[in-house]
Amino acid sequence: MKNEAEDVQAWMEYVEPYEGESISHYFGRLRREEANSVSAPTTLSEAAGIGPALSRWEKFRFNPFPSPKELEAMGKLVGLTVEQLRAMLPAQGERLVMRSMRLCGECYRESPYHRIDWQYESTEGCEKHRLRLISRCPACDEKFALPVEWVEGACKRCGMKFTSMAKRQKPY
Ligand SMILES: [Zn+2]
Ligand SMILES: [Zn+2]
Repeated sequence: MKNEAEDVQAWMEYVEPYEGESISHYFGRLRREEANSVSAPTTLSEAAGIGPALSRWEKFRFNPFPSPKELEAMGKLVGLTVEQLRAMLPAQGERLVMRSMRLCGECYRESPYHRIDWQYESTEGCEKHRLRLISRCPACDEKFALPVEWVEGACKRCGMKFTSMAKRQKPY
């Protein structure tokens, strides 16, 4: 008899992670992939046999930190190695900014996805573009949604595009 994990695994479409992509953004993308369209994180999480862990990861809640066993189970389900999943999690010793999601509009214009290091407390700005990160919509002051919900690449309240926010970032 086939178990649920095998069923899910059979139809999962592989999605390649981007360089430095955060786990929240990745799983949003993976779940929305047309062939997958898994609306709830619990579906994948339960199929991997790791309880509701994925819902926590998508909210950047890493206490307890994902164990190698959990990463292996999830990796097997979605076709990623433990190392690939590990790369989407905070590096050891890095504390995350939780009060708001942050972004660099210029980076987002080059490649539209949330980078895990934007959430590091130690990250003051974007080294590449010499801009401070932005954590609220400059037009309406709304906080950014969790990256798992970044579909349009825009403020969910007023619709201002993330790419247009670059000009409102302060030099760094
Ligand atoms: Zn940048
Ligand atoms: Zn807005």
